Amino acid sequence: MQSISYERARDVNHAIELARQPGAKFIGGGTNLLDLYKSGIEKPVRLVDVSRLSLRDIDELPNGGLRIGAMASNTALATHPLVRQRYRVLSEALLNGATTQLRNMATVGGNLLQRTRCYYFTDPAFSHCNKRDPGSGCDAIDGHNRIHAILGASEHCIATHPSDMAVALAALDAIVHLQGPDGERQVPLIDFHRLPEDHPEIDTVIRPGELIIAVELPLTPFAQNSHYVKVRDRASYAFALVSVAVAVDLDGGKVRDLRIALGGVAHKPWRARDAESVLRGQAPTEELLARAGTAAVAGARGYAHNAFKIELAQRAVVRALQTVIGKGGQA
Ligand SMILES: Cc1cc2nc3c(=O)[nH]c(=O)nc-3n(C[C@H](O)[C@H](O)[C@H](O)COP(=O)(O)OP(=O)(O)OC[C@H]3O[C@@H](n4cnc5c(N)ncnc54)[C@H](O)[C@@H]3O)c2cc1C
Ligand code: SF4
Repeated sequence: MQSISYERARDVNHAIELARQPGAKFIGGGTNLLDLYKSGIEKPVRLVDVSRLSLRDIDELPNGGLRIGAMASNTALATHPLVRQRYRVLSEALLNGATTQLRNMATVGGNLLQRTRCYYFTDPAFSHCNKRDPGSGCDAIDGHNRIHAILGASEHCIATHPSDMAVALAALDAIVHLQGPDGERQVPLIDFHRLPEDHPEIDTVIRPGELIIAVELPLTPFAQNSHYVKVRDRASYAFALVSVAVAVDLDGGKVRDLRIALGGVAHKPWRARDAESVLRGQAPTEELLARAGTAAVAGARGYAHNAFKIELAQRAVVRALQTVIGKGGQA
């Protein structure tokens, strides 16, 4: 393990200034970064501690949405009364992740930037990983790939993004607020994480030295009627094989608008727009729910050990929709 220096940022500007130093990395709760540092995957030279910045508040916006400070803990966010009341899918997704102890430490910013759980990435004993060492190859493609992607993968990487929270945020049209050396900007959550393409070493569109300062949730008509389904090998303390976040605005017997996002299936939270189109404006019959499930995995490709995820994702979409729409699929 290489030596490392540590500095605690006083405020956002100080954090951004400290991050200009070579080899500097922000640290929030440290629950992902420190694991990867200990195994030699991440090699920061300087840790810039942003966990004590005054970015913990979760505030209602004048337009009825929420602004979530990037240092809010996963527990604080999951248990916030307005989140439970208006954005149920987000609370459920968070409470389905990790453990109480980890959620108490983990921050919203760090959660979005956690790295993949691909075993070939997290274990330096494996030498071919384009994400860890660009150009070295991908041990997962012909290896054990049970947890890997079925959608949006490339010939260079088939890893998935592990965050439950990000899947819910994708279904809620969340916006990520960033501040860096060039000022502030906002990125829709669905555009924040990347597909691997030719550069799997780049997980997101965040620029060097940029700090996530907040996540904004617009007040949407579908958020309140929402649900998260997570399918995993154990009932707790396990990452998703497949997960689904759904949010549905019902108008009498019809679906006025909806969002469907999948986790555990791609390098980023996967918005299932084709599946949404099947149901938008329709009375949701069992047949239409099944068609939406099929549309959600259009173009999916299974590898040697993960082809089961295709049907699993279809079924998870149907189950999540049935839960929010009402038993039997009829509104
Ligand atoms: C045993 C275990 C089980 C888990 N199970 C689940 C699970 O089921 N579901 C799930 O979703 N997650 C799970 N997790 C992952 C957990 O949610 C993440 O480790 C956590 O959310 C990361 O947040 P953090 O604040 O600790 O990030 P850190 O480890 O502090 O940082 C992670 C990354 O984000 C960067 N960073 C941190 N904050 C900012 C910021 N504000 N701006 C810019 N960059 C920043 C850091 O530089 C680092 O690269 C699990 C973790 C463990 C250890
Ligand atoms: S799937 Fe991606 S992260 Fe996993 S070994 Fe291949 S390149 Fe590395």
